[in-house]
Amino acid sequence: MKTPSPWLKQAALDQRRPTPYTAFDTGEAVAAYDRLVAAFRERTRVQYAVKARPDRTLLTALTERGSSLDVASPAEVEQALDAGCPPQDIACSNVFADARELAFAREQGVTVFTADSVAMTERLAAVCPGASVFVRFAHGHTAGAAQPLAGRFGCPESEAARLALHAVGGGLHLAGLSWHVGSQQYDPTQWERATARAARITRRLRPHGITVEHLNLGGGLPGTYRTDAPPVETYAEAILAAVDRHFPRPHQPRLVLEPGRAVVADAGVTVTSVKAVVDRACGTYVVLDAGLWNAGLLDNLGGIEYRVTFPGHCEDAVTRPVTLCGPTCDPLDTFTAGRAYRAPVALVPGDRAVIWSTGAYCSTSTLVGFNGYPPVPQHVRAAVSEDARPCF
Ligand SMILES: *Cc1c(COP(=O)(O)O)cnc(C)c1O
Repeated sequence: MKTPSPWLKQAALDQRRPTPYTAFDTGEAVAAYDRLVAAFRERTRVQYAVKARPDRTLLTALTERGSSLDVASPAEVEQALDAGCPPQDIACSNVFADARELAFAREQGVTVFTADSVAMTERLAAVCPGASVFVRFAHGHTAGAAQPLAGRFGCPESEAARLALHAVGGGLHLAGLSWHVGSQQYDPTQWERATARAARITRRLRPHGITVEHLNLGGGLPGTYRTDAPPVETYAEAILAAVDRHFPRPHQPRLVLEPGRAVVADAGVTVTSVKAVVDRACGTYVVLDAGLWNAGLLDNLGGIEYRVTFPGHCEDAVTRPVTLCGPTCDPLDTFTAGRAYRAPVALVPGDRAVIWSTGAYCSTSTLVGFNGYPPVPQHVRAAVSEDARPCF
């Protein structure tokens, strides 16, 4: 398990700050980005998926390090531009972007898009003539991913070559092929299957004189939750080996990696207080002042189980199985868990609980005020790595 930065640890254990709150260490996210780049031995361009956490300070820091940004909507295009990202380094990968959204992106200078349907390639050809397009194919497997993406996104492998030809015929430039093996992917070998598919599609295009210039390896690299995932270096090794196997040099496409979660997840922590410990016939409920709605922990509904610790109690304290809940009166505001959470038997109201790795997909997923509980405040530490400012 990764150790949190000293600032995050201090933020997690600060008894004076009223709960609930989320602390986010931008420097930690930048360090995760650097580690990714190094693990992939600088062979991939990294295109951070803005939706995971769109903080301006973060986008600026990543842009300054050479990251491109992956966006889906006009507002995300604006966020990327505001952060100082040049339009040529912004890619719009929303395969359902409509004509208005595409026109906005084009007007801002965005030239790289993704399509997985004839309708989208035709829309792109009409609204963004001459644009570069990635053809996204479906991974088609659910194995290994906490959040599989099979279904809604990506055309079948059998249609990808035809779609690419259709795009080129419509005056678009084929930038390459893309896929996504599912978010929080625990199995590094899943990229091998996708790369093999990409190689087959590439072979089908060759007789038409069309080259695949880029492979977009998608997202899916993990954060640190209750189930341990291999280190990012293990993924990098497996992925680069798969690319080398299926695309022997010198005819190797350039690589793009599109991480969201792996950059920001572990840079955030949410601190909460126990409001009640209730024994019912069906078990014990621990009610926290941060939950799915006000802390934006919606990923829990999609199979992500956050690590939760109780800092006021020793690690070897006697525990019992409990159901963790947020503060609202919505039954869905409950942490689902395949394996029950456990809390110290001595836990009482007022004790604190720390929910780790809440940096990804949380800050923008909070409900605006369900039951009158506003989004938890976000304390963001700027990306200063040299002088460790004590700003918390
Ligand atoms: C959300 C998204 C990502 C990031 O996925 P993670 O699993 O968070 O790494 C990458 N690419 C696309 C197209 C996405 O929509």
